[in-house]
Amino acid sequence: MINGKIDVFDKIDDINYIPVIASLISFAAENKWIDGKSITFFQKNSIFKYGKHLVNPYHTKKSYEILFNNDEFLENTLSFADSGGLQELLMDNVNISPIDVLKWQEKYCDIGFALDKIPFKKNLGTVKVGWTFDEINFEKCAEITKQRILDAMKVRIEYKSFKYYAIIQGTNYKLYKKWKEIIDSPGIDGWCCKSPTNSSASLAETAVFAIKNLNKPTHFLGVGQLTKSIILFYAKKYFKYPISFDSSSYDTGAQFRRYNLPFYFNGMESIKMDKDEKYNISNFNEFCSCPACNMMSKIMDKPDKDKYMGYLISLHNLAQNVYIFNYLKNIYKDSDKMRIFVNNYFKEQTAEKILQCFDYIDDAVKNGVEFAKQKHIHIFQEFKKTTRQQTLI
Ligand SMILES: [Zn+2]
Repeated sequence: MINGKIDVFDKIDDINYIPVIASLISFAAENKWIDGKSITFFQKNSIFKYGKHLVNPYHTKKSYEILFNNDEFLENTLSFADSGGLQELLMDNVNISPIDVLKWQEKYCDIGFALDKIPFKKNLGTVKVGWTFDEINFEKCAEITKQRILDAMKVRIEYKSFKYYAIIQGTNYKLYKKWKEIIDSPGIDGWCCKSPTNSSASLAETAVFAIKNLNKPTHFLGVGQLTKSIILFYAKKYFKYPISFDSSSYDTGAQFRRYNLPFYFNGMESIKMDKDEKYNISNFNEFCSCPACNMMSKIMDKPDKDKYMGYLISLHNLAQNVYIFNYLKNIYKDSDKMRIFVNNYFKEQTAEKILQCFDYIDDAVKNGVEFAKQKHIHIFQEFKKTTRQQTLI
């Protein structure tokens, strides 16, 4: 407790699922409520309540400020704020100040990520957005990141229980280590890690780095689907500090009407409309008891149902994630139970790959990082690094 207020780290659990607010924020305003209820998850009158989230101030600053100033967020919310480093990389002519970023994060959120200089280059001239790891400027980017952290920390409000996390960049264990050595400075409260590819093995290596090298609460950026978050739940038994991870994968509801089937863990269905503007599924509340499905069934015959549908599907997906992660929190310390869960939950091939990642993690912790990497080298796909323009796969 600080000044009678709860310290941010008192609100953090052992392992924390942090959904990115994403497009749902556009449904937070009163004119989008249904019967006085908001179809988001972060407000006091949300139909499904979940008290943790990540906001990307670059995209949703104004709407977020309004919610904050109107005291609409849930009591004891644990809020994370992104840095804007990715926007700096992806958008041209963007000038982001690390000091402004920190001031905003400190005012509106509990935990903020420092503005990093990302050692990747955007590939130009390709239809697909490709990234290239910038090996030549890697250390220079780390130096710039360190300077930004030092500049920003000068304006911190001392008495506020805001936590400042620094982001570790790199594409493998050695580079993570190098980056961390360069940017480490007194006053950093926690670390952020990002795995360079979408593979479970790549995240497993990132987790092993964190277990061996980071002695503060650690956040994993952009973790995505359960094939990746399951790796963190397994690795958690080796972490001495709390960990958190953000994900926006639930939001495929709003984007593609992708609906996680509640009774078939691994399944997804795309909800479609027929030519008479009727949905191919309508009795949601008869097979899912979450508040979003309940609401979908209620509005099914309303003329403006389509306006809400995608967002309600997103909210259902989020609720499913929360239920699964709450279960995994119960069993993560029990390796056998985790393995049984993986075998029951995923398709055979996927399950096999995930279990190999579990073995790699155990080996790396018990028998050393180098040994484990060599022994399990087949699970790691080669990460393309180049100094020339090349699309990463
Ligand atoms: Zn549901």
